[in-house]
Amino acid sequence: EEKPPVKTSVMPQIGATGRKIVYDENGKPCRACNTLLDFQMVSNKKSTTTNGNTASTSIGAALGAVATTETANPSKDCPPDVEELGRSTWTLLHSVAATYPDKPTQKQQENLSQFMNSFSNLYPCFHCAEDFREYMKKDKIKVTNRDEFGKWLCNAHNSVNVKLGKPKFDCNLWKERWKDGSKD
Ligand code: FAD
Repeated sequence: EEKPPVKTSVMPQIGATGRKIVYDENGKPCRACNTLLDFQMVSNKKSTTTNGNTASTSIGAALGAVATTETANPSKDCPPDVEELGRSTWTLLHSVAATYPDKPTQKQQENLSQFMNSFSNLYPCFHCAEDFREYMKKDKIKVTNRDEFGKWLCNAHNSVNVKLGKPKFDCNLWKERWKDGSKD
């Protein structure tokens, strides 16, 4: 049975944060691809209350929220938006780098390559995953030892930082940030 065409004319294209709204193949806003505020703006849901603050989800209220707080107030037990998902994922990936051996066996190197390859296909923010796969085509993954992988991952993370207009991280500090901790 043929699906009715998605009515793009009534779907907001730009969110309250000024970012483009990402929809899935069924025309539904993608939770893992948008910020919570933008997701709330385009989903017609009831208000959610967290810590006594109301994060209403109507368009007007979402825009009002921008004017006052700039961010939506995520509820503790809600599915992650693009930012929370990203932060948690980078934590996992850099932690994998931090515990990867200095002298990995052939099997360990294969495992890491396969893991990153599967990751780039399964990451829930599908447009992020697509860009990440493109990145991996241009800058081939390095799995020969901890430092090589850690630096490769740091550069990969920096490519996303640059895309999002964030500052680049100094990759000489990746181990201090994710393995050894700060010296002070
Ligand atoms: P994050 O970027 O999440 O970083 C977390 C912490 O890592 C920082 O606080 C810092 O201490 C440290 N850090 C920062 N840069 C580096 C680095 N280069 N190396 C080591 N440590 C570092 N979001 C989008 O909106 N669009 C996308 O296309 C997109 N693509 C993504 C692709 C992938 C593979 C992943 C995992 C996430 C993606 N994200 C994307 C999410 C985005 O990268 C951020 O996670 C999100 O915006 C939250 O950012 P943040 O400022 O909290 O810090």
